[in-house]
Amino acid sequence: MSKYWSPAIRQLTPYVPGEQPKVDNLIKLNTNENPYPPSPRVVEAINNYPKDRLRLYCDPDATALKQSLANHFQLHYNNVFVGNGSDEVLALAFMAFFRQEKPLLLPETTYSFYDVYCKLYDIEYRQIPLTDDFEINFTDYDQPNGGIIFANPNAPTGRQTALHEIETLLLKNRESLVIVDEAYIDFGGSSAVELIHNYDNVLVIQTFSKSRSLAGLRIGFALGHEDLIAGLERVKNSFNSYPLDSLAIVGAVAALEDVDYFNETNQKIIDCRDWTTAQLEQLGFRVIPSKTNFVFTCHQSISGAELMQYLRSNNLLVRHFSKPGIENFLRITIGTAAEMQTLIETLKQHPQI
Ligand code: PMP
Repeated sequence: MSKYWSPAIRQLTPYVPGEQPKVDNLIKLNTNENPYPPSPRVVEAINNYPKDRLRLYCDPDATALKQSLANHFQLHYNNVFVGNGSDEVLALAFMAFFRQEKPLLLPETTYSFYDVYCKLYDIEYRQIPLTDDFEINFTDYDQPNGGIIFANPNAPTGRQTALHEIETLLLKNRESLVIVDEAYIDFGGSSAVELIHNYDNVLVIQTFSKSRSLAGLRIGFALGHEDLIAGLERVKNSFNSYPLDSLAIVGAVAALEDVDYFNETNQKIIDCRDWTTAQLEQLGFRVIPSKTNFVFTCHQSISGAELMQYLRSNNLLVRHFSKPGIENFLRITIGTAAEMQTLIETLKQHPQI
C-alpha cells in the first residue's frame, strides 16, 4: 500500500475471476467459458481483415457492430452501447447512473463485481438476501433506492427470475434505473430486452463471452432507452474513446450473423447441463435449477472446499466461493459431453460418494 492510495482504493478487495491456469492439461470448468470454438465465420472475418489497417485507429463508435446489434434485437442504433466486455459496460454504467443519494439495491449473492464497483466509486449500496432456494424476491426491494442491479439468470446460483416479476419491479421503481445483467441469458432464459420498448428505466447488459464463445475478444453491450445510452457514451468518451479494437468489431459482427452455429452450440450446452444435473442428483448432490452454462451444486456430506481440492487433484478445475452461506457449493461450468462425463466419473470415485 502506498500513502498515495485514495480511501476508496484502501478499502477495495478487487474482484478476482476464477483461476486462469498456465498449463493445458486441466479440464477448465471454473470461469463459464464456452467449450466450443467461436463460429468459423468469426475466424474467417478476422483472417480477411486487411492487416495494414491495424495501423489506423479503430472506429470509436463501433458503428458496424452497433448496427448489427440493433438489427438483431429489432432496436434503433441509438439504443445500443458496446464496450470491452460486459465488465467494462457495467463499470461505465455504475459510474454513469448509480452514484445517487439513496442506496443501490442488489442481491446479497450475485456477481461479486457489483460491490467492488460500489466501493471503488463510493456508491452506497444495500445487499438483499436471496430466499432459502436462492431466488430473488422482489418484494424485499420495496424500499427507497437509487437504482437496482441483478443478474438474470443470477450468478453463481444459475436461477432465473420471471419476466413479469421484472416488469412489476420496473413499474414500482419508475424513478430508479434497473440494470439487468443478462450475461447468461442465451442458455434458456427469458430476456428483458422486449421491455425496453415500454420502459425507459431498464438497461439490459449482455456479452459475447459466453454463448458466442468470444471471451478472449472482450465484447459486451448494453441495450436501453436512447437517453441511457447517451449517458454511457458520455462516460465512455471521457474515459476511453476506443473500447473495441478493429478485430473485435469484425469478429463480433460475424458471430452475430451465424445464427445456426449459435443455436446449435447453445443447445448442446443446455442438453449437457440437463444431463449433468441428473447425474449429480443421482450421486446425492443438491443442484439448483439452472438456466445458464453452469450448475451450482453442493453435496450433503462433503464440504465445497474439499470437493474443489479433490477435483483439482484430478485435473478438474471448478469454482468454489468461501462466502458464508454458499461455502459448501461449487459452481461448475458446462463443458463438452466428454468433459462432463470425466467429471461425473471422477466424482463417483470419491470415497464418500
Ligand atoms: N456478468 C456476469 C454475471 C458474469 O458472470 C460475467 C463473467 N464473469 C460478466 C458479467 C462479465 O463478462 P465479460 O466481461 O466477459 O463480458
